[in-house]
Amino acid sequence: MSKSDDLFQRAEKVIPGGVNSPVRAFKAVGGKPIFIESGSGCRIRDVDGREYIEYIGSWGPLIAGHRSPVVMKALAEVLEGVGTSFGAPTGPEVDLAELICDIVPSVEKVRLVNSGTEATMSAIRLARGFTGRDKIVKFDGCYHGHGDSLLVRAGSGVATLGLPDSPGVPACLAELTLVLPFNDSAAIRDLFDRVGGDIACVIIEPIGGNMGCVPPAPGFLELVRDLTAAAGTVLIFDEVMTGFRVSLGGAQELFDIRPDLTTMGKIIGGGVPVGAYGGKSNIMDCVAPVGPVYQAGTLSGNPLAVAAGLAALTSLRRESPYERLEDLAARLERGIHESVAEKGATVQVNRVGSMLTLFFNDSAVTDFETAKASDTVRFSEFFQSMLSEGVYWPPSQFEAAFVSTAHSEADIDATIGAISRCL
Ligand code: PMP
Repeated sequence: MSKSDDLFQRAEKVIPGGVNSPVRAFKAVGGKPIFIESGSGCRIRDVDGREYIEYIGSWGPLIAGHRSPVVMKALAEVLEGVGTSFGAPTGPEVDLAELICDIVPSVEKVRLVNSGTEATMSAIRLARGFTGRDKIVKFDGCYHGHGDSLLVRAGSGVATLGLPDSPGVPACLAELTLVLPFNDSAAIRDLFDRVGGDIACVIIEPIGGNMGCVPPAPGFLELVRDLTAAAGTVLIFDEVMTGFRVSLGGAQELFDIRPDLTTMGKIIGGGVPVGAYGGKSNIMDCVAPVGPVYQAGTLSGNPLAVAAGLAALTSLRRESPYERLEDLAARLERGIHESVAEKGATVQVNRVGSMLTLFFNDSAVTDFETAKASDTVRFSEFFQSMLSEGVYWPPSQFEAAFVSTAHSEADIDATIGAISRCL
């Protein structure tokens, strides 16, 4: 028995499904999960000694690859000379908040939390508290973490497992979440015509990432901005995935649209657990202790997470690797198209910068309905053959692959070679 299989057998006895987050269980692609021993750059090594070029990057945070030297150095300094947590304010938290406010165009004040889920839950509560309204709007296939109000027609692992909603979410709460199709201008216009004044917030992934990568249609985000502004509704861009990824200032910088609140995570922690929500001062000042909307956290802003985040963001700002990421990811996309043409396969490639999904689908993927029409059986076969080629692709049709600055042209070309053999 392989070491991975042995670990999985032990894990299943003491951890639900043997994993600490559902997609890791490989349920969508069959087979058993591979246990990872270590990572370096764009490569990971499993406990049985096999090495893979990988495109998950811990699901987004590792834009500079595994064990990025700047992040490792910052973490080592904190471990050696600072300590892991005080539950009291520290200087680097102020540095990180200043840096985020400087980088993310719409953020004037920011609060650090510990995960993307916490960020979106807190932002929703804040929007409700600020507006005095209860209803919220989300889009079909957008995932915003596993908070009760947001676990309604979410993508990501929920899509992978085919769960319509989750038991345990009270119906009376789910009823307050109105769900619209992504990229459907008529649907949101109609909703706002009817009940715009009752809606506390619209939360959206400005680039869909959790139904696979789905870019916004031209004009769609602008329309969402206009409708929410006119109705006094708080617009929340969930940039947990897109923030610092599609551009330093995130999707709001790329598309030049300013939401009222932004949720962040992944890259701002440099691979250590961090989340954040921020936005206009007048809204953020409703949060305790200035305002009445309560939100707190024992480990929020702890020195380890803050140091990793500061190191990651500082180096992204200094090195501005976005053109390089675009070139690498475009090279991968081109290679896929060439392989597809050669093999006569039908796939769609959706890509924004270094986020990319290869859908086994005959038609364009523009929303969750069209994403779900993909051939998931074909995807599973593709995923498994890629693994045997030594490439670790995200284990679900409904996830984005991430290119990092640690990938080289040679890594991308090796991946294209594998893809052409696996299509
Ligand atoms: N929002 C988005 C857009 C995400 O992609 C994710 C995680 N994939 C979350 C929120 C939740 O973040 P976390 O897993 O850190 O709770």
